[in-house]
This record gives sequence, structure tokens and C-alpha cells, in this order.
Amino acid sequence: MPKIAASFYKSPEWRKLVASIKRERGCKCERCGSTQRVIADHIIELKDGGAPLDRSNIELLCHAHHQQKTAQARGARAAGLT
Ligand SMILES: [Zn+2]
Repeated sequence: MPKIAASFYKSPEWRKLVASIKRERGCKCERCGSTQRVIADHIIELKDGGAPLDRSNIELLCHAHHQQKTAQARGARAAGLT
């Protein structure tokens, strides 16, 4: 499963989608407007069943917000397992 996700993020389909979202929305964090190290992130992660190429499941995040969101998703998943 992690291997599938890793190769997905290198796929031309994903890169094309990210490029078009950045063009449409502007290359900046959707939470704070930062333009530093902006990456496209799945709102519902693939391993949680999120749609990989649905643009409504993708938001642009700066590095700080991506870290925060990843930590929250991991926490939620850990809580679900207990
Ligand atoms: Zn941000």
C-alpha cells in the first residue's frame, strides 16, 4: 500500500493535475497564503480511501501546514485503531 502511494505521486497524471490546480488557484497555501514550499496534498489521504485524482480532494499547503495536517491525520488514524 505505501509503495502504491509513492509511485502514484510520481505519475504523470498526478503531476499534470497538480500543475493545473496551481495554475488555477495560484501557487500558495490555501490556509495561510504562504508561497513557501507549496505542495499539493490530499484532504482525505489515499490510505484513508481518498480519491486520488479528484481535485476537490486536493488542497495546496505550505510546508508548515502540510506537517500539521499529516500529524493530525496520523493521530486520527491511531485513535481509530485503539
Ligand atoms: Zn500554510
